[in-house]
Amino acid sequence: MPRSVLVTGGCGFIGSHLVDRLLRRDDLERLVVVDNLWTGLRDNIAHVADPRFSLRIADAETFTAGRDFDEIIHLASPASPVWYMREPARTIRANIGGALNLLSLLKPGGRFCFASTSEVYGDPHVSPQPESYRGFVDCTGPRASYDESKRCTEALLFEEQRISGLDIRVVRLFNTYGPRTRIDDGRAVSNFISQALTTGILTVYGDGSQSRSWGYVDDIVDGLERFFWRDSVSHQGPLNIGNNREVSVLEIAKFVSSLAPGSRIEHHAPAPQDPSNRCPDLTLARQVLPGWEARTGYEEGIQRTFEWFRRQIATDGRSAAS
Ligand code: UDP
Repeated sequence: MPRSVLVTGGCGFIGSHLVDRLLRRDDLERLVVVDNLWTGLRDNIAHVADPRFSLRIADAETFTAGRDFDEIIHLASPASPVWYMREPARTIRANIGGALNLLSLLKPGGRFCFASTSEVYGDPHVSPQPESYRGFVDCTGPRASYDESKRCTEALLFEEQRISGLDIRVVRLFNTYGPRTRIDDGRAVSNFISQALTTGILTVYGDGSQSRSWGYVDDIVDGLERFFWRDSVSHQGPLNIGNNREVSVLEIAKFVSSLAPGSRIEHHAPAPQDPSNRCPDLTLARQVLPGWEARTGYEEGIQRTFEWFRRQIATDGRSAAS
């Protein structure tokens, strides 16, 4: 059956990779990307030349259209702490306001897919974190605009599913890195790489013993593709998607530094309420998405990302908003 699909945040880092995969679908009739270019970049989709594709520059929370879409994939949101802490109200509007608005554009019987986050687990007291873990979060803390808007949007979607049988797919993404991240994104991998290639000083917040599980974007988007639109999947989520190899921030910084001779690490003040650890329990993902695995180790993924950043910096420096 031909499908009409709407993706918010399709000019973003993860969104643009998902757009590439959507365009390989035979059943895709129309793909509308809605993006306000707050953190997304036109460059990320500049290569797309497909008559089924169109871009609308608009906010997810106010975009208007008919009740036309078979599938809506809501990705629009900053994901870097630097960006969402700068504009918390806008972050909340993008997530919650976006979901509320977009629900009205879904055809009856349509599917609503949402990218939630491992941030719903806060600073976890359980490791690895299964989907059943309810998290250790602070609704008045500095990360709350992001964490709580993702949590509230999950609440909205699961209530709609319970009350009206809405077909939903809710994924919780763990730290993701790779090509098409903004140079001024501010997250660990992209910061370390762009610092290694420019100033030569890699800024580690605190002692660097805090850990994350670093997922290469191709692996993560492969998981999203399988979960969001394979009809054999009936599970609605929440579903953890990430790489479950947990590695300290310092180890990542040292690795990046080893790729740029002459660069060095500098320790800065710890980030406020920085989670000490994060690692997905992938038991459910392996059941629901047989064959899927985040296979790319950070060594390989970071080298690929490093080369991509090197080319970007050499050509245009992607820090300017498009
Ligand atoms: N981090 C760091 N230096 C940077 C950017 C981030 O040491 O330049 C640390 C940050 O404090 C956190 C980890 O790297 O412990 C991951 O941060 P990121 O912003 O990538 O994602 P988060 O998981 O915090 O949302």
